[in-house]
Amino acid sequence: MDLQTPIKEAGRVYKMYAQKLEKLGIRTLEDFFYHIPFRYEDYSLISKIEEVQVGETVTIQGTVVEVRNEYTKSWKRLQKAKVQDQAGVIDVIWFNQPFILNIIHKGDSISLSGKIDWYLNKMVMQSPEYEVITNSPTIHTGRLVPIYPETKGISSKWLRRQVYKMLKDRKQNLIEYFPYSIIENNNLMGFSEAIEQIHFPKNLKSAEVAKQRLAFNELFILQLASMKRRFDWGKNLVGHPFSIAKFKKNIEQFWANLPFILTNAQKRAVKEIFTDLAGRQPMNRLLEGDVGTGKTVVASIAMYLACLNGLQSVFMAPTEILAQQHYDTISTLLSTFGVKVNLTTGSRKHKVLSSKYKRKGKTLNTSYFIPNTEVLVGTHAVLSKDIQFDKLGLVVIDEQQRFGVEQRALIKQKGKNPHLLTMTATPIPRTVALTLYGDLDLSYLDEMPKNRKKILTWLVPPTKRKSAYQWIRDQINKTQSQAFIICPFIEESESIKTVKAATLEHERLVKEVFKDFKLGLLHGEQKAKEKNLVLDLFRNKKIDILVATPVVEVGIDIPNATIILIEGAERFGLSQLHQLRGRVGRGDKQSYCLLFTEAQNERSIARLRAMETMYIGAKLAELDLQLRGAGEMYGTMQHGTSSLKIASFSDFELIEKTKLEAEKIFPKLSEYPLLKEKIKTITTKQISPD
Ligand code: ADP
Ligand code: MG
Repeated sequence: MDLQTPIKEAGRVYKMYAQKLEKLGIRTLEDFFYHIPFRYEDYSLISKIEEVQVGETVTIQGTVVEVRNEYTKSWKRLQKAKVQDQAGVIDVIWFNQPFILNIIHKGDSISLSGKIDWYLNKMVMQSPEYEVITNSPTIHTGRLVPIYPETKGISSKWLRRQVYKMLKDRKQNLIEYFPYSIIENNNLMGFSEAIEQIHFPKNLKSAEVAKQRLAFNELFILQLASMKRRFDWGKNLVGHPFSIAKFKKNIEQFWANLPFILTNAQKRAVKEIFTDLAGRQPMNRLLEGDVGTGKTVVASIAMYLACLNGLQSVFMAPTEILAQQHYDTISTLLSTFGVKVNLTTGSRKHKVLSSKYKRKGKTLNTSYFIPNTEVLVGTHAVLSKDIQFDKLGLVVIDEQQRFGVEQRALIKQKGKNPHLLTMTATPIPRTVALTLYGDLDLSYLDEMPKNRKKILTWLVPPTKRKSAYQWIRDQINKTQSQAFIICPFIEESESIKTVKAATLEHERLVKEVFKDFKLGLLHGEQKAKEKNLVLDLFRNKKIDILVATPVVEVGIDIPNATIILIEGAERFGLSQLHQLRGRVGRGDKQSYCLLFTEAQNERSIARLRAMETMYIGAKLAELDLQLRGAGEMYGTMQHGTSSLKIASFSDFELIEKTKLEAEKIFPKLSEYPLLKEKIKTITTKQISPD
């Protein structure tokens, strides 16, 4: 067994806990080391029993002179003990923990940490942490005690024991993998010491220094990994570079055909993309732009250019709804110019493939070439083994943060070093983008199309709910516009519970609030067909108000909708609220965002108030990051990717520092075999800021 041994194979006891540990991200023995405490309980004050005072949190150590179960008058179970040291004796009580009698026996030396209190007119130690003193040092009492992220059935106490045991048995496996120069230049604590000190620190200062070292590790490895990805990417060459000058006329026609003029930011992005496409190295570019900045049209011109050069493009979107919508937009933009656009999603795959495609007289049995298609729009269904491209020249991935590394790699393999354009509307602060996606070239759309009005945003107090509904009614009647009403996720992702709650809310609104309007319901459990039907009805103004779960978060474009009401706003991160808000304000009418919350505490209210005054996604993301850095986590809408464990993306200084250090080492990685190994493991994982 080594550190990489999966928990399931690490013995019977571990096997029993494997599933639960997985929830905490602990999959191998090594992961115990990286399960980092989020705080410490300070039990380091060890006091003589005769000196303790009521109200103090202390540790006492002595001999058990008596221990027993008792019942209170109301038949609650109580465990009582008497503990004695050289000069004093004190009563100890626990409530309803009968198993304690199996652990603590008369005559044992024990160590107890907790609060001194009054109980029935006597000074007692109440519900303390306890451990029997043996030859080993204490880990649950008498020191700074680590408190870990827990899950049902896995307590901090249990975790503490495992980590301690791992440190005892396997600390020698924690081999320093940093070159000495880096350790010295940055005043870092040694690696194995840092792991030990972050779990069982001598004092808070030492815990802090350990944390710095591990945060450094984390970011440094990320930096190196992205440098390596960039380096490797650079070794590829495209089949043939795109011609641009030859198609000047066609491109001008495309621009002339648009109902609007490109923003300067869009123009800049197109120029950057064209430069890439004309090169020998495949493009690897991230197009980052706030919701509504107009990324789709930028991608479309690139796909058109591919087509003009005789190459196919594929455009991958994360949901069927989005794929369908993009298909509509892209067909409208491109079919005028004779480009053959096709759609494939889970439910439509069959249609696309229904005719076997004959190529040079041969029937291909194992795989079908997409017949008659120059641009294929789709969900991850485009990754299917059955789908092959003759001449794939360009891959576009929309909302790229929704896809894993494997999916991104798979789609690239469908062609011979095709160009890659990834897009995201998740406003990632620039520093974060540079660390996470340092291997990508970045194009920013930092400008909204002209004539866009600010979406007026209000945090609505519960007392004003009724008048808000009335306001929405008037607004719809007056301006013929439409509204979204968003119900939050109740559990971590779109679960049955959420769907139920949204369904109930829909019913309530139909029956009690908006009797005179047509309402629709949209959630993740519906079949694609049903979703599309509802959206079509909404798009064609057959529905006035769409009640939805956050499935509408990404990309849905319905310009006539001008009101979005978000329930349980406190359950969302600011970036997510901003994304949701971006569902309106997509036309030229004034739009509104109404945030409802039941939250009472000032922090939550202040956080939500930021939405009323801040309209730039990147700024909101940065604020979100700072608040999260302070320990606030949102349970909703995590995308199954792991984020940083120790370092913080708001630690801009450390990000910069690790980058400089990584640049000193790269690309001479072969001189540092241990580091090289670490980087290999990270490149297969995906790190994401949300
Ligand atoms: P996103 O960047 O969020 O993906 P979209 O590409 O969906 O944005 O564009 C949002 C809307 O703005 C679409 O209706 C699109 O036609 C329109 N649009 C794009 N560029 C411009 C522009 N330069 N001027 C006006 N409207 C634009
Ligand atoms: Mg989009």
